[in-house]
Amino acid sequence: MKIHEKYGLTEVINAAGTFTPLGVSRSTSMVGHSVAEALGSFFIIEELLDTANTAIANWAGTQAGTVTHCTASGITLAIAATLTGSDAQKIAALPDTGDRPNRVILPAGHNINYGQSILQAIRLAGATPVLAGTSEQCSSEDLETHLADPRTTCLLLVSSRLVTGDPIDLSAAIRTSHKHNVPAIVDCAAQDIRLPELLDTGADLFLVSAQKYLAAPTAGLVMGKASLVEAVRAQSKGIGRGMKASKESICGVLTALEERQNIDLENWHIEQISKVDHFVNRANQITGLSAKKTDGLPVTRICLTVEHPRSKIDAIALVTSLKNQTPSIRVMEYALPEGKIFLELVPLHTKEIEHILSSLSEIMTRSSK
Ligand SMILES: *Cc1c(COP(=O)(O)O)cnc(C)c1O
Repeated sequence: MKIHEKYGLTEVINAAGTFTPLGVSRSTSMVGHSVAEALGSFFIIEELLDTANTAIANWAGTQAGTVTHCTASGITLAIAATLTGSDAQKIAALPDTGDRPNRVILPAGHNINYGQSILQAIRLAGATPVLAGTSEQCSSEDLETHLADPRTTCLLLVSSRLVTGDPIDLSAAIRTSHKHNVPAIVDCAAQDIRLPELLDTGADLFLVSAQKYLAAPTAGLVMGKASLVEAVRAQSKGIGRGMKASKESICGVLTALEERQNIDLENWHIEQISKVDHFVNRANQITGLSAKKTDGLPVTRICLTVEHPRSKIDAIALVTSLKNQTPSIRVMEYALPEGKIFLELVPLHTKEIEHILSSLSEIMTRSSK
């Protein structure tokens, strides 16, 4: 019996991307086997973490890497690492930082909410977040003023479609940070596919969610400078205890990284674009719908709009109707206020894509009667 049937759960076709409330991603059976084997086994966890360190560092091309429960905890522990280094007493005292510096600078437009405010992830370490500039704009002077403050311990930047305002030159911000001996962290949770170009920014730590495009079990990859990665690992004797990676997730990550290294990313992109092209062509044949390919970061997506006045349905009602299908079809809803529906097809099988198209056709036909 399928797990959904056994437990009475809603079956979902997820065209909403790597979205946590929908189960994020689909792991391969190889990753599944690795997790199952790990669950039935004992390990010397430090040895497993050392193996993960080598695997992540080799994959990313960084000095070191480790695994946390997820990126939200990766943010907290990376900040903690900049507050304490590997000092056992300081680690044990967190989130109390005594009278030591504890300010974390974040461009105001990078004050994102991924289901939790990133400011809370910072504060959980015992740090004080300080926003530079406004949500529309943060100049290099805005950043430098804060980075020059002796109370500053770290710069946190975000690479995500969730950020707002004028784009920030990450490399320039990080250079300014280093000029003031302040380490820089980049939260690029869903952008592992762009990791090589992000590494060029020169940040000290990079954070990626292994359960997103890598399709591993839930885990946060923290990679970068060896001393800081070591300080992240050292948090396991402090606030990191409740944020640890499980043995099964570490083994799943190792397998997912091997699989990623075995695929040709260029071909992968071509396949994704051809799936999107096919979908766009078919969707444009449905009366009342208009479909376009969009250059998404990090992957190509589809933008659907409902063409008034030919149809009696709007984007919001269409999304509701899709949800009410069996299986329930879920799409990206963040641009609904502008009448736009985004779809991501990366993890979907052909049958599921066909089901979305036939559901769209059926809903639009019904609504034009
Ligand atoms: C998903 C995401 C997070 C949170 O990652 P988790 O692994 O779910 O904790 C943080 N920041 C950004 C930019 C994200 O996209």
